[in-house]
Amino acid sequence: MPMKTLREVLADADARRVAVGHFNISDLAALKGIFAAARGLQLPLLIGVSEGERAFIGVRQAAALVRSLREEYEYPIFLNADHTHSIEKVREAAEAGFDEIIFDNSSLPMDQNIANTKAAVEAIRAINPEIVIEGEIGYIGSNSEVIDAAPAGIALSTPEEAVQFVAATGIDVLAPAVGNMHGLLKSMTTGGADAARKHLDIPRIAAIKAAIAGAGVHYMTLHGGSGTEDADFTAAAKAGMTIIHVSSELRLAWRRGVEEGLRDPNEIAPYKLTAPAVTAIQKIVEDRMKLFNGMA
Ligand SMILES: [Zn+2]
Repeated sequence: MPMKTLREVLADADARRVAVGHFNISDLAALKGIFAAARGLQLPLLIGVSEGERAFIGVRQAAALVRSLREEYEYPIFLNADHTHSIEKVREAAEAGFDEIIFDNSSLPMDQNIANTKAAVEAIRAINPEIVIEGEIGYIGSNSEVIDAAPAGIALSTPEEAVQFVAATGIDVLAPAVGNMHGLLKSMTTGGADAARKHLDIPRIAAIKAAIAGAGVHYMTLHGGSGTEDADFTAAAKAGMTIIHVSSELRLAWRRGVEEGLRDPNEIAPYKLTAPAVTAIQKIVEDRMKLFNGMA
C-alpha cells in the first residue's frame, strides 16, 4: 500500500463512505491480533490507547510500537490517544508523536466542554499541527467494561449542538452520541444468535454529518462500537462515520482466550498462554473491518 498520512486516510475513507477501524490495546497480544487482521485485509488501521492503557504500556512506548510497525511494514497504522481528559495528558501524547488525540470533556456542560476543547486544540496545534484532533459531545457512558445495565443519562447529540461545537473549537473530527454506548451489556456477551445488540440512529448520523460539513468538518467517529448490530456498522459508515471504535469486544476475547490458554496446567510460556487470545482478537477485527468497509 502507498504510505499515506492519517489525514489522507481519513479523506479517502470519507470520499468512499467507509470507516477506518480503531481498536484499543493493553498489550502485545492484542496488537499482534489486530495488526494481522488489518494486514490480511490490506486496510489502514488506528490503534487506540486510553489514559489507563497508556499508563500501563507507557506513552512513548505505545508510540514506539506503532511507529515500528509503520516503518518496518510501510503500513498505514496510526496511533490515537483515546479519551484524553486533561491538557497535561494531551501535551504528553502530542510530544510522544501520537497521530490523533481525542480530547474528551463531554461530561461537562456544553460551554465548558467548548472552552476546554478549544484550549486543547491550541495546545496540540502548537506542538504539532499535523495531529488529528477529535472532540466529543453527548454522553454514551465512560467504561469499556461488561455492565449490567445501560448507564443513566445517555444523551443523543443534535445537528445544532454539533455545528455549535465544531465551529467554536476548531476540531478535525467529531464524536457524537447516536445510539452508541461504551461497554457491553451482559446480555450482549452470550455469543449466541439471541445476544442483545446495540442499534444506531442512522438518520441522526446523516443529519449531523450534513450539518457539520457546512462548518467545514468532514470526519466523525463512532465510539463504543462493541456489540452493535452488524448491518448498523455498514450503514453508519455509509451515513458518514469515518472512524469506528471497538474495544470491549476485544477485551472480552482477550480474557476468554487467556482462560482457554490456561487450561493446560503445565503450560507456562506467556506467548503460548495468550495465543488463543491473539487468534480470537484477529477474527473479531477481521469481521468488524469487513463491515466497516462494506466487504461483508
Ligand atoms: Zn470511546
